[in-house]
Amino acid sequence: MADTIFSKIIAGEIPCHRVYEDDKVFAFLDISPLSKGHTLVIPKEPAITIDQLSDESSAAIGRVLPRLSRAVLRATGATAFNILQNNGVGAHQAVPHVHFHIIPKFADGSGLGIGWPARQLSPEEGKQLAATIAGYVTGT
Ligand code: 5GP
Repeated sequence: MADTIFSKIIAGEIPCHRVYEDDKVFAFLDISPLSKGHTLVIPKEPAITIDQLSDESSAAIGRVLPRLSRAVLRATGATAFNILQNNGVGAHQAVPHVHFHIIPKFADGSGLGIGWPARQLSPEEGKQLAATIAGYVTGT
């Protein structure tokens, strides 16, 4: 897999403001924060999108995300925050290495702006779609 800016950060070839590291996870401040404390949490495994990430790395990230979120909240005084995880260029992913954003939201409006163009789900479509997805869960 090609080197990305994040694998170079993990390797120490590019500087960052590191906030956490263990054998599977690395976390550091975003270079262009949406708000104070905007932090990136990444697996050391060089998967591009989360559907390609191993169960082990996924579990390791899940284990520390709440702790890192609490630390960001305590450090910034924020009480609200978003966790954002983009997959694919079409979904606003700029760096092809899995990453979770922890983005504090402040009263001044800084933080993540969200568009939420909700649509309708009919009972029939919901039943069919849920069954299809459920069928794939075990097979993937
Ligand atoms: P994405 O749009 O892929 O979900 O977000 C990528 C994030 O990585 C952006 O918020 C961007 O500011 C951050 N980023 C890109 N290059 C660097 C870098 O070299 N250092 C740090 N700390 N963050 C970076």
